[in-house]
Amino acid sequence: MLPIEELILHHSGSTATWLELERWWRQQNLRSYYHWLVGYVDGSPQIIKGLQDFKRGQHIKLMNTHRIGICVIGDYSDLNPDRALMKKLDVLVYFLVEEHEKINKISPHNKHYDTICPGPYLTQYAKEWNIFLKNVKRGR
Ligand SMILES: [Zn+2]
Repeated sequence: MLPIEELILHHSGSTATWLELERWWRQQNLRSYYHWLVGYVDGSPQIIKGLQDFKRGQHIKLMNTHRIGICVIGDYSDLNPDRALMKKLDVLVYFLVEEHEKINKISPHNKHYDTICPGPYLTQYAKEWNIFLKNVKRGR
């Protein structure tokens, strides 16, 4: 198995809830396009498992190998995700960086493809993580 080297951040880009998204994916016989999702379920922020980490996702054109796709549920083209949701995302990213030691960058979808996804806030968030990762790797 190829090691996971990169996390790709997405937003779902709509107001659909996790239950609506899941129902829609189930109708198409997909667990999800993503490996992990972060979003509100029954009013509380949750980390949701989609595909197995080493399974090929379908979240980014031509670049789905050795990458994990994370989707923050909601449309963050103009809005910022709330703090509770960002805390969950932090927990997830920390976990994945520990779990897959070859991960050396976190990229917003728009870094590799002409899209607004995952919006400006999460794009900046990925940038900050990369600065952190660089420092951590240098320290190893
Ligand atoms: Zn995306």
